[in-house]
Amino acid sequence: MTGDGSLSPFYDRILFMNKCRYYGKCGGCDYQGLPYENQLRKKQSYIENLLAPVLLKNGYKKDEVSKLFLPIIGAENPYHYRNKVHGVFGVGKNRKTICGTYEKNSHHVVDIENCQIENETAVKIIRGVKEMMPSFKLAPYDEDRRTGVMRHVLIRVGEPSPVFFEYMVVLVTGSKEFPRKKDFVKELVKRFPEITTVVWNINDKKTSMILGEKEEVLYGEGYVTDTLFDLNYRISSKSFYQVNKRQTEKLYATAMEFAGEDAELLLDAYCGTGTIGMSMAHRAKKVIGVELNKAAVKDAKKNAKENGVKNIEFICGDAGEYLKKTGVTPDVVIMDPPRSGSSKDFLNSLLKIKPKRIVYVSCGPESLKRDLEYLLRPKHGKRLYKVERIQPIDMFPMTKHTEVIVSLSR
Ligand code: SAH
Repeated sequence: MTGDGSLSPFYDRILFMNKCRYYGKCGGCDYQGLPYENQLRKKQSYIENLLAPVLLKNGYKKDEVSKLFLPIIGAENPYHYRNKVHGVFGVGKNRKTICGTYEKNSHHVVDIENCQIENETAVKIIRGVKEMMPSFKLAPYDEDRRTGVMRHVLIRVGEPSPVFFEYMVVLVTGSKEFPRKKDFVKELVKRFPEITTVVWNINDKKTSMILGEKEEVLYGEGYVTDTLFDLNYRISSKSFYQVNKRQTEKLYATAMEFAGEDAELLLDAYCGTGTIGMSMAHRAKKVIGVELNKAAVKDAKKNAKENGVKNIEFICGDAGEYLKKTGVTPDVVIMDPPRSGSSKDFLNSLLKIKPKRIVYVSCGPESLKRDLEYLLRPKHGKRLYKVERIQPIDMFPMTKHTEVIVSLSR
């Protein structure tokens, strides 16, 4: 209760979490309608039940284990956090243009008018695009018959300062035809002055990928800028970028704390566009980021240059192969592999190089469990690493996905 006897916004949120009207159809949020505190509790116990047996099997005592798990870091506001919002176009009842997501395990489009986790302005812009299409005679693209024009719309939101938002609209057509595109963009930007850039992308392949290769900037710069810890990052249509900005800062702050401040050579493995390494560069003598995706490495290099971060270098390649072949010996390693986890090559190299600290950031707890088992397994009767702390973080409220950071030391 607040001083005047009314419910505080916090309790309001917990007690009256409304179930989304698309629940069960859209397939996006498994924990829909569940009070946020319960969602957090569920995620915490999932991580504890998953990882505790690994520790118990490796010589940790029960009371030691329970101390290693820190309470999950939840979101102050679990709503409307997604800064990347996608809609696929389709035809609904009475030939109406609809836009939303595919229904679970099908090719039917669910017409989405609002969403609890997506940026609200982005959803409004998508509604606007959908409403404008008939008057411009732009029909939804039909993948099977190869008719129509508009295939997908993607909105990316940047927050270069706490009071200013930038919106990129990516209009994806199913062929090279986009009649009256200039007029369409003019009208769209007039309706939504928040839009800072519009990109036309052509995807003429039969694929579940949203974006095709070819692109043309129709308005603005072709990218939005987001800020994390006072560093600016350019996000273009295809850049990888964390979808929940507020929680990303908490994730990186935790990784930073676990990594310490005394690294001679910090390795940011699976670095994406280099955001973790760059956030921490001031706390290390030198940083190397390794990433498989060429476009991400290009973005990372550009970001480092624009932010004036000089003690960082980016390598394009497989993280395991890089460690195995180059013989570099980082003393602190941060690794943030994809959901499928790391590779034997990478883990074996770690066990050989023996960095003093390893910070494992995971968006796939099952693969983390597997990799952790591997790192903790005794070699010649000796265990190289011990687990210091395990920190779950809720990057994706309303969904069942959980992010977790484990710090290990020699
Ligand atoms: N740390 C980044 C991105 C993590 S996502 C951030 O916080 O934004 C995982 C990244 O691993 C993706 O960018 C993916 O392209 C990359 N990746 C996948 N397999 C890889 C491999 N074998 N070697 C190096 N990078 C890889």
